[in-house]
Amino acid sequence: MSTMRAAVLREFGQLEVADVERPEPGPGEVLVRVRACGICGTDLKIVSGAYRGTWPPALPFIIGHEWSGEVAALGPDAQRSGLRPGDRVVAENHTGCAACPMCRAGRYNLCERVREPGFKLYGHTAPGALAEYAVRPAVALHRVPEQVSEVAAALVNQGALTVHAARRTGLGAGDSVAVFGPGLLGLLMIQVARAAGATDVIMVGRGPRLEVARELGGTAVVDYEQADPVAGIRAATGGRGADHVYDCSGNTAVVAQALGAVRRGGSVALLGLAGGKLAELPVDRVTLDELNVLGVRSSPNAYPAMISLLASGAIRTGPLTADQYPLSDVAAAFGALARRESVRPIITMPPAERRPSRRRPDASCP
Ligand SMILES: [Zn+2]
Ligand SMILES: [Zn+2]
Repeated sequence: MSTMRAAVLREFGQLEVADVERPEPGPGEVLVRVRACGICGTDLKIVSGAYRGTWPPALPFIIGHEWSGEVAALGPDAQRSGLRPGDRVVAENHTGCAACPMCRAGRYNLCERVREPGFKLYGHTAPGALAEYAVRPAVALHRVPEQVSEVAAALVNQGALTVHAARRTGLGAGDSVAVFGPGLLGLLMIQVARAAGATDVIMVGRGPRLEVARELGGTAVVDYEQADPVAGIRAATGGRGADHVYDCSGNTAVVAQALGAVRRGGSVALLGLAGGKLAELPVDRVTLDELNVLGVRSSPNAYPAMISLLASGAIRTGPLTADQYPLSDVAAAFGALARRESVRPIITMPPAERRPSRRRPDASCP
């Protein structure tokens, strides 16, 4: 039996770095050497036991769903994917059942079988990537070009979510945008909005991350501890309100603020989860101003666009990937996220040893 190092959740509240059995790729599957794996708020909740019985269904379990790596081996029938050992890849956490009405409509993020026993939602109900190796169906993998680093590629999962949000709202050139919550999602959202042609991009939050938002292309910031967010957004948009408002905070108090800050006929997209809490909805405003209130889940068909945005240099990742830890320091990485000291702690792992056949040809060769 070959083994690998992994951060294993044996008991809720505690991750243990240990040797476990290395997975083998089955038919249509690929073994990937993990290079970088980000830790997010959902991981914190999974580790704490907030979703016990569902995410994960049982212990022990390996979490991790925001990651990149390189192909190590192909299972039977996986050659058809065109992937080769050494290819750098990112993985979607599921690509649906391919058979239900939502999957057949291309909306596989809403697959109707996602809650069925045996459905693999990697990092949630099937093994994640906080380990040296992970196995995924070839169809869930996307190649990453050389100009995107492993740590930058670990942001594709969250970045693709913001691409999906931009598409859901019909964001276009010259539009104005307000984003609540300068966490990783919000800081990617403002950049994707700029790349999609938004000209006024307003970030609402507090603390030093507002400066990061400015650095990454935010044209105005509103510190909600100093000023009313609705008034601030309206002031920054000539009184009309923003064309699109994105809640990346999951704070239920934001919903009414977002609906107050959007222009007539505009869109409010909710990207955050509220842990079952309810929000107030100003029904008359939604009706009389024909507001669009949209939920945004996962990132169907959006990985390729996010990879292209990263490869083009349109999205800056440096300030978002500064906090890197080896797997052995996974507890410190979780602590940094829990204390809000880090936008996104990323566990990095060394590359596999190169086989001689993949060495570059001599410089003297034509
Ligand atoms: Zn996540
Ligand atoms: Zn389906």
